[in-house]
This record gives sequence, C-alpha cells and structure tokens, in this order.
Amino acid sequence: MKNKNYEIIVNKSKDISLRWRSVPAPQRGELIRQFGNELRLQKESLAKTITKEARKIQTESLGEVQEAIDMCDFAVGLSRQLYGLTMPSERPNHRLQELWHPLGVVGCITAFNFPMAVFAWNFCLAAVCGNSIIWKPSPHSNECAKGIKDAWDKVSGEFSDLILVLEGGNEEAVSICKDNRITLVSATGSTQMGKELAPVVSARLGKLLLELGGNNAAIVCPSADLDLTIKGIAFSACGTTGQRCTSLRRLFVHKDIYEDCVRRLKKCFDDLVIGCPSKEDSQIGPLISKNSYDSMQHVLDSLRNKNVEVIGGERLEIEDSDEYYVKPALVLVKNIEDEMLTETFAPVLYVKEYEEIEDAIYMQNNVSQGLSSSIFTNDIRESELFLSESGSDCGIANVNIGTSGAEIGGAFGGEKDTGGGRESGSDAWKNYMRRVTATINYGDELPLAQGVEFDEG
Ligand code: NAD
Repeated sequence: MKNKNYEIIVNKSKDISLRWRSVPAPQRGELIRQFGNELRLQKESLAKTITKEARKIQTESLGEVQEAIDMCDFAVGLSRQLYGLTMPSERPNHRLQELWHPLGVVGCITAFNFPMAVFAWNFCLAAVCGNSIIWKPSPHSNECAKGIKDAWDKVSGEFSDLILVLEGGNEEAVSICKDNRITLVSATGSTQMGKELAPVVSARLGKLLLELGGNNAAIVCPSADLDLTIKGIAFSACGTTGQRCTSLRRLFVHKDIYEDCVRRLKKCFDDLVIGCPSKEDSQIGPLISKNSYDSMQHVLDSLRNKNVEVIGGERLEIEDSDEYYVKPALVLVKNIEDEMLTETFAPVLYVKEYEEIEDAIYMQNNVSQGLSSSIFTNDIRESELFLSESGSDCGIANVNIGTSGAEIGGAFGGEKDTGGGRESGSDAWKNYMRRVTATINYGDELPLAQGVEFDEG
C-alpha cells in the first residue's frame, strides 16, 4: 500500500521549493555550511548508525560521513559559482546569455551501501541550486536517513521541509517516478532497478539521473609496482565486503607476473581481518543479508561445477553471530565465464591472464556495465592508451590506484548499463537546474537572426 503520507510529503516539498528558489544562492550555501558543521559535530554518532545498519567497518563509516561533510563544503563554494555563459550575438545591440534556474522538487532514491554519502551528493547540489528534495532511502537504511534528517532539522529553521524522507520500498519509488510534480528523479541502485524505473519517468518525459550497477576491472601490467598494486586490489575487491558499486570484480594480469601476483593476492586475502564491524581492528564486516550471501554462493557453486578454481568464498562463524561473514573469493579463470559478465554484490574477484595490453582493454570493456576501471603500470604508453578514446570505456579510469574510493571533486558515474548519470563534483550541478537561453535587444531596431527579412508592411 502506498505510504499514507505520500501526498502530504509531495505537497510540502512543492511548497517549500517555491519559497527556497527565491533565496539568493549564496544564502542557500550559508545554510548548507551550517548543515556541514552539524554533521561535523555528529560525525561519530552518524558513523555508528552506518555501521549498525550497513555493517560497514568504523573507518569506512567515518569516511562516509566525512564525504557528506566535504560535499557541504563543495556546495558552499558552488553557491557562488552557478555560472551561466554570455555568448556574442550575431545582431547589433543584442546580448545572448544563459541563465540557470532551479527545477523544483527532486526525488532521490538511494541504495543500502552508501546510506548517507549518495544522499549528500544529491542534496547538497540540489539545495544550493534552489530545489527541495524527497528522499526514498533503501529499506535497509531508514535509521541513517533519520539521522541525516535530524541533523538538518537542527539547523534549517523555516526550511526544514527542504529534506523530506519517504520511507518504503519499490512502491514508493514508483510513485515518485510517476509524479509530474517531481521534476528530476535521481535513482541509485541496481541496473535492474534502473531498467524498471527509467521507462516510468520517461513516459512522462521527466528528467532522470541514474547511478546503477558496475562490473569494474583492473589491468596489471609487467612494469606495475606490485606492493602498491596488491594493496589497491585488496581494498577495491574486499573493502566494504565487496559491496561498493565501484568494487573490483575482474582482474587482468600480464602473463609474466601472473604467478607472483596470484601468490601475493592469496596471502593478502588470507591476512585480512574479518570480524564485527564495530571492532577497531576489523577490515571486513558481514554481507548485508542472506540474499546477498545466497547470490554469492550460487555464483561460486556454478563456477565450481564447471571446474573453475575458486579459492575462499566460504561462510565464517564469527563470535556466534548469525550474520553472513564470508572469506573473499579469488576465482582463477582460464576463459571468460558467463558469471563474470554480471555484478555479484559480494567479494568475488575473477583473475585472468593476458598477453597483449589491447586484449586486456578489450576484455575489460566487453561487459554491459561501464562504471570504474584501473590500470597498474609504470609505462606511460600503456597508461595513456588506457586513458585514450581507444582505452577504458568507463566513467572512471584510474592509474595506479584501485577502482573504488572516488573523491567528491570529480563527477561520479558511469556509462552503458551503469546509467550515464553524473553526480557529486565538477559540473554535475547542472543536472539539478534548468537552462534558459535569453536574448536581450538593447537597441531600437529589430534585426532578425540569419538575415531573415520580415517587413511589417
Ligand atoms: P537496489 O536496486 O535493490 O535498491 C536501490 C533502491 O531502489 C532502493 O531504495 C530500493 O527500494 C529501490 N528499488 C529497487 N528495485 C526497485 C524496483 N523494482 N522498483 C522500484 N524501486 C526499486 O540496490 P541495493 O541492493 O540497495 O544496492 C546495490 C546496488 O546499487 C548495486 O547494483 C550497486 O552497484 C548499485 N549502486 C550504484 C551506485 C552508483 O553510484 N552507480 C552507488 C551505490 C550503489
């Protein structure tokens, strides 16, 4: 059944957006600055809520709150830089100018694995651009959403309704997508979710911003610094229990260093500290749910049935917990297996040998997703090829760092089945505004464009 507060929430959000849009952008930024300060004060307790709900280890939870704080700082600066271009007019005494205006109400649907940061990417930009936001968090993240909303309510005064939380599941998300009063829908989650929701928004010609699943790969070249590489691979593949959209899933290693690389990865995976995420020394917590565990085991069983070598992946008993702790799995493949083409949201790393860099880039790109990618090399020809138009086809391409852990300053997102959206830094703010091209005639004649003559007779 549709959330009984739905209509109230949408009407309130619409009302506040009409008042907020007239507040000068730098003043909007000032409120976001205060919000950032409140997040600073509550950093520890908000991080604890993330660890409780998303089961992230403490340093990652603190990092996630820090990301929300950084987004506030970014948005404060941005509130004085919502620049529009001025273009030369072809007509005398005319001026052409771009104006950027708020959209109104933004609907924000988020995933469980970044329960605060992804909202902050959206909210901080949407707010300084003059919009209100309705947030439908993952059903796994309601406490995190409440924590953020409470922090906002402490500083926002008459603009408290700028953030309104709509708890619920798929039905609430669909209601947002169908609703003409919600100008932009920003949806983060699985590719399947995006493929179901995109046609609903498109049917009403609404604006869409999609941040969907990844299937990220890294290439390890013969000249790579292996100390740095193994650390980068281990964090990308196993950090957040393999539950980041940017987690490393596929690894292509040059044949000359393959044996050495696999030996060191096995050792590194063996040494990882898997345990309760609230404990200071834990590096990996449990999977989010039984469903996630079942999907992981289903994929590993299917590979074993084909005689593919799977190292690790088993469930671990940790302190009588009934949660799903797993040993990260290394899967050594001779060929591209079907399982490698889909995103399994768990710590499963496929490793394959390559001979030519062009083949490695081809294999990396030859999946339907296009989020993040990395190359580990000290050869400038290889790294530049990887970054060129013939290289990685992903939205994120890294050199000598892993696929995960993006900074907020860059635009975040990916191509193909990842949805094509860009959030966070750079000029992603433009997604949250509408562009007006204005032509101003300050002369006393009316010359028409392209030399057209039209005599009034
Ligand atoms: P999910 O798709 O199950 O859920 C995400 C959100 O969409 C939730 O709020 C959920 O309620 C809603 N939803 C899901 N299916 C729906 C449907 N059929 N109709 C209407 N609403 C629906 O994703 P999850 O398990 O929470 O998160 C993991 C997924 O999210 C992974 O695929 C991951 O790669 C992706 N993700 C992507 C990014 C990115 O920026 N590209 C960031 C985080 C997570």
